[in-house]
Amino acid sequence: MGDTKHSKVLIIGSGPAGYTAAVYASRAMLEPVLVQGIQPGGQLTITTEVENWPGDTEVQGPELMVRMEEHARAVGTEIISDHIQSLDLSHRPFTAKGDSGTTYTADAVILATGAQAKWLGLPSEEKFKGFGVSACATCDGFFYRGQEVVVIGGGNTAVEEALFLTNFASKVTLIHRRDSLRAEKILQHRLFKNPKVELLWDHTVEEVIGGENPLGVEGVRARHVETGAITEVPCKGFFVAIGHAPANELVKDRLELHNGGYVVTKPDSTATSIPGVFAAGDLTDHIYRQAVTSAGMGCMGALEAEKFLAEQVEGEDVSAPLGYGAEVAGAAE
Ligand code: FAD
Ligand code: NAP
Repeated sequence: MGDTKHSKVLIIGSGPAGYTAAVYASRAMLEPVLVQGIQPGGQLTITTEVENWPGDTEVQGPELMVRMEEHARAVGTEIISDHIQSLDLSHRPFTAKGDSGTTYTADAVILATGAQAKWLGLPSEEKFKGFGVSACATCDGFFYRGQEVVVIGGGNTAVEEALFLTNFASKVTLIHRRDSLRAEKILQHRLFKNPKVELLWDHTVEEVIGGENPLGVEGVRARHVETGAITEVPCKGFFVAIGHAPANELVKDRLELHNGGYVVTKPDSTATSIPGVFAAGDLTDHIYRQAVTSAGMGCMGALEAEKFLAEQVEGEDVSAPLGYGAEVAGAAE
């Protein structure tokens, strides 16, 4: 049997939300425990330049996250390399079980599990994952030196991935299902003026084409959204950049969710429908999904956890929803 570790505040996740919550909770003398998960540092560790983190005109994503970790550790957070596989929120103390065998108990929990890449859901995409199909240009772009690649998506991630891939690839085709991008204008400007980039508007990808022996991508079959006309685009790498889904696995059967799986919180708060459980960052934010907003919510989560713990009443029925339950449920519709 593994160890049991108790804390006043358990923070699950090590992105900007988790580390910021850790800094504030530590400085409130709550001696938080933070469990990092399988992606220490979160989503920013798979990008390169971050140009909108205040105080840094430009900083590498992985470097920024190392600094956040060091900050959290320096103010007293216990940072643990583990992944939470289950979470029992039915009674207090709350109980989380880690892959390591450790059981974590806590008087309050801050959920900061963020989001993960979405996939198109095609059988051929699944077949070639790791053999030409990727959701991370920073991780895999290097393999496509001098080759043609395709990126699908129209948001900031897709445009950044496409631009990053021009460092290696001979040609980058960006396929988007509409005739305009939702990415920031400054990124669009860089994309449009890059001679290696070609855009295929109003298309979706319906199949990844490839060889069996060796297994590898040779192109994608794209369909025009209105005419249905098929265009085959040759490529050795296919990068899916169609957004991210909230990592709600631990709580999807226990907490209210809305807008495609984001955890519902009380307005202007990180409080969830269970007293003592707070949610911050991309797990709960379907609108902004930025490092700085996630960090801000991490701060709110820690301050609210501190207030909650200070107001603790022995014997309270913690499984009952908070008074704003109806209001939150209404927001979910
Ligand atoms: P995340 O960063 O998603 O971190 C989630 C954490 O939870 C991870 O550490 C993970 O290991 C952990 N976790 C998940 N499940 C478990 C579990 N069961 N047990 C334990 N831990 C768990 N935003 C910007 O502001 N500027 C940018 O330039 C920018 N660039 C981006 C580039 C890319 C390629 C991507 C994908 C995103 C970018 N973003 C950017 C968005 C930004 O990264 C996110 O908004 C931000 O990281 C969200 O922070 P978070 O703390 O909510 O979660
Ligand atoms: P996003 O903004 O949600 O964009 C997803 C894109 O994929 C959209 O263009 C969408 O098309 C398209 N798409 C979705 N499902 C699709 C499907 N099944 N088939 C084809 N196309 C599909 O996601 P993101 O770009 O990953 O960004 C996520 C968040 O992180 C955003 O808030 C973003 O601002 C932030 N971020 C910020 C930066 C930065 O600040 N530099 C960098 C990266 C990410 P439609 O446009 O038609 O909906």
